[in-house]
Parts: sequence; C-alpha cells; structure tokens
Amino acid sequence: MPEESREYELFINGEFVPSDAEERIDVEYPYDGSVWASVPAGTPSDVDRAVASARGAFKSEEWGGLTPSERADALHRIADVLDDYADELAELETRQNGKLIREMSSQMSGLGGWFRYYAGQCQTREGRTIPVENKNGQFHTYVREEPRGVVGAVTPWNSPLLLTTFKLAPALAAGCTFVHKPSSYTPVSALRFAELLHEEAGLPAGVYNVVTGSGSDAGDPLVTHDDVDKVAFTGSTSVGRQISAKAGEALVPASLELGGKSPNVVFPSANLDNVINGVIKGIFAATGQTCLAGSRVFVHEAVADEFIDRFVDRARDIELGDPMDSETEMGPVAFRDQWETDVSYIQTGVEEGATLSFGGEQPDDLPGECFLQPTILTDVENDMTVAQEEIFGPVASVLTFGDETEALELANESQFGLAAGVWTEDMRQAHRFANQIEAGTVWVNEYRTLSYNAPFGGYKDSGLGRENGAEGLEEYLQTKTVWVDLSGEVDDPFKLG
Ligand code: NAD
Repeated sequence: MPEESREYELFINGEFVPSDAEERIDVEYPYDGSVWASVPAGTPSDVDRAVASARGAFKSEEWGGLTPSERADALHRIADVLDDYADELAELETRQNGKLIREMSSQMSGLGGWFRYYAGQCQTREGRTIPVENKNGQFHTYVREEPRGVVGAVTPWNSPLLLTTFKLAPALAAGCTFVHKPSSYTPVSALRFAELLHEEAGLPAGVYNVVTGSGSDAGDPLVTHDDVDKVAFTGSTSVGRQISAKAGEALVPASLELGGKSPNVVFPSANLDNVINGVIKGIFAATGQTCLAGSRVFVHEAVADEFIDRFVDRARDIELGDPMDSETEMGPVAFRDQWETDVSYIQTGVEEGATLSFGGEQPDDLPGECFLQPTILTDVENDMTVAQEEIFGPVASVLTFGDETEALELANESQFGLAAGVWTEDMRQAHRFANQIEAGTVWVNEYRTLSYNAPFGGYKDSGLGRENGAEGLEEYLQTKTVWVDLSGEVDDPFKLG
C-alpha cells in the first residue's frame, strides 16, 4: 500500500477539476482499514457541470457527429487501452473493496471484450423499412434508431468497473454521453477509468464524466436532473425503487439492476463434487458480495446430509487473507457496516431457529475489522428472514425439499428473481426447471458465469431492463419512424392515413 494518501478530483469535460465543496471522502483498503485515497464529496452544482459537459459532447461534431464506424473505432481504442491497463485497474479495484486480486484481474482483463462486442454492434446493426398497408405503396416508411442522449449512471461498490462497463459500452455504442456517480466506497477506479478513456483512448471531452460523492448529494441530483435523458442504476432494491419512482414522475426511462436472493437447487442425480464447487462459487466467491449470489441452497432430502458434511468441510478449508495475495480464496467484507449487517443476519437466523453449522465468527489472526468466516446456516425454513432477505455477505442458507414440485415452489417463493442454479444429470428435469423458475438467468450445472453477449437482468424485484447482449444496447436507443410520401398527392384531409 502507498504510504501517502492520494487526493483525487472530479473528472468533468475531459479533465480533473476540483469540486465546489471542500468536504472529502476517504477511501480505505478493507484488508487493514488503511486510508490510501480521498475523493471530493460532490454536490448538486458539480452534477450540473458534469451534465452540461455531457450535453455539450452529445451535441458536438467530435462525438455526436461520428458515424457508427467511427464510434466503433473509438470503442476498439478503449478496449485496447483497457487491455494495457488491466493490472493497474485490478489493483485499484482490490484496494477499494477488498475483492480478490485474482477475481479483479480476470474482470479487468475481460472489460475490453464488452467494448469490442458493442463496437461490432455499431457496425452491424441495421434499420428496418416497414411495409405499411396503403394503396399503390405510396409510402416509404422506415425506422431509425437514435441515441437517448445524456445518461445518468449510478453504480454500487461490489464490481465497480465491470458494472460501469455493462452500461458505458452500449451507451457509447448508441452514441450517448455519460455522467457517472460511483459508490462512495469505490470511487477511485472510475476516475482513473475516465482519465484513461480520454487521455489514452482519445475519447472527446465530455463523453464520460465522473462525479464522486454520496447517494443523496451526488446520486439523487444526477438521477433527477432535468437534462438527463436516461437513468441507469445498479444497486439495492430499496434505492432502485426510489429512483424508479422519481424517474417515473419525470418520465425518464430507468434501467434497474437490483438485489437478489438466488436459489441454487441440488437434485439427487447431480455430481456432488461439482455441486460443492458450484455452491461455494455461488456464495463464498467474492465474499458473497455479489448480486447473483446463490445464497439460498435447496438440497433434496436424499442427499442433504452428505451435502452438508462436504459443504462444511470445504468451507472450513477456505483460505482467508490478503486479497492482494493470489493464493487467498476469500478476502474481507468490504466495510464495517456491511460486516455488522452480515453478523446481525446470522444472529437473526439463529434466533428464528436455524442451526449455525459453520462460521459466523471474525477470525482473530487477520488484521482490520472486516473479516468474517464463510458461514453456513442449516435447518432454514423458507419464511425465515435469512431465506427471504438479501444479506450480501458470505452467508449460505441451506433448505431441503422432497420433490421437484416443492423445490420449484420454494425457489419461486421470493420477492427476487435475479438468477438461479440447478444441479441435475437429468436434462429433462434441468430444462423443465429452467423454464419454470422466475429468474433472469439460469445456470444448469454451473454458477456465476457472465458474458458481454448474454443478456443479464432481473425478474420481479431484482430489476427492470437488461444489460449485455443486443438487449443491453436497446436500453440506450430510441425509435423514430419516418413516413415519406412517394405519391406526390395529399388527398382527403379529414381521414386518417
Ligand atoms: P446501494 O443501493 O446502497 O447504492 C448503490 C449506489 O446508489 C451507490 O452509488 C449509492 O451512493 C447510490 N445511492 C444511494 N442512495 C441514492 C439515492 N437516493 N439516489 C441516487 N443514488 C443513490 O447499493 P450498494 O450497497 O452500493 O450495492 C449493493 C446492492 O447492489 C445489492 O443489493 C446488490 O444485489 C446490488 N447489485 C445488483 C447488481 C445487478 O446487476 N442486479 C449488481 C451488483 C450489485
């Protein structure tokens, strides 16, 4: 860790600029609590400047005037720069949220793929002509796709640049410009990202702006700004609900990627070696701090005892430690408040009748105050708090079921619908289950895989809209229909058509 804390500024109109406010936010390394950076606590007037800059870039020849192929070139340049700087960005990510360097390195080295995929979309997407019903075919009617305009994006702390890229790559492909409010726990990587995109990849000034700060002083003014045309939010369901209500009032479209409580369902025919790895991957990778965590593990009664024994044994062996060490398997929780939330959920689970089969403790041989053992609660019933509420930490709730119908009913009995896993060697059962589960993503005999070309998003309270794939681009486009009269004659003015 650097010995001195570095002071960052806002990134607006292609350069670092001071905030209007003097107040700053410290950024800590969760492993040991050391402060290594600070950013401005941005204000509504900072947001005004950033939105004005994005509006200027949207209207400019340098960005607004680009052809789709020129935009594709810009996205390819960004991808190349991200490849070159992947190691540096991975280290920044780990320092901010304590996620494993091995995970952040693989996320950062994959970001270029998103920009290349959407560069391809720029060049291959085509318009439509509509064969409208009319006499003599006197209309040429066609559909244009146009960028929505200025995007106001707000993101969480758990995978900062990956979740930003899910929005930024399609937004730029569409021709939009962007103002980003990152989480106040993880603001630094976004600032460096903006610097790289403009200084190394040559993005015109104002295309991507970053205002750091709190949800109330920077996030809210951004998502309610009069000159923002589209809101893109990833975060908790409670904040998403507030943003959705405000965007609805202003008639601004909002895409929302929200919380989850995803079921990971184990049938007796499943390969138990794979299941153990898949369930660990689902809940203890990333210290459970992932929206798609497989935090409800449903196991068929016939294999429940063997599963729980093996799951506990593997959890006991998980190597906790410094996330910068490539051997570490689980790092700290990202900050103390989240640690307290996790521990309080574990206590609630036990009070409501669950058995603490493993974990729940802060190991005493590690620094800082954010380490928590991987935790397994068994004897969980579906109406308990730990089976229904998102914990967002390394806490697995294990439930049992008797048959496929019961498994499906229990799995669907949730306000959330982000993702699901199903483990079975019976492929008919796998597809039946995938068809009937209420979730935006289903993995069969795997868990926690993502790709730029595979749409991702939630059913029910897990969100609105989709990121990635062609659907991800459509969030940033609007449709215009153009009717061109070819007859040279305008007849009866009193009839429609
Ligand atoms: P959060 O909702 O507390 O904060 C998310 C962002 O919103 C932060 O930048 C925060 O400063 C900002 N914010 C807070 N209040 C605001 C307001 N009133 N107006 C505007 N902005 C505001 O979430 P978090 O704790 O940062 O992240 C964890 C949550 O994110 C979990 O619920 C997790 O499931 C969810 N998440 C979802 C996905 C997905 O793709 N579905 C991905 C990652 C995380």
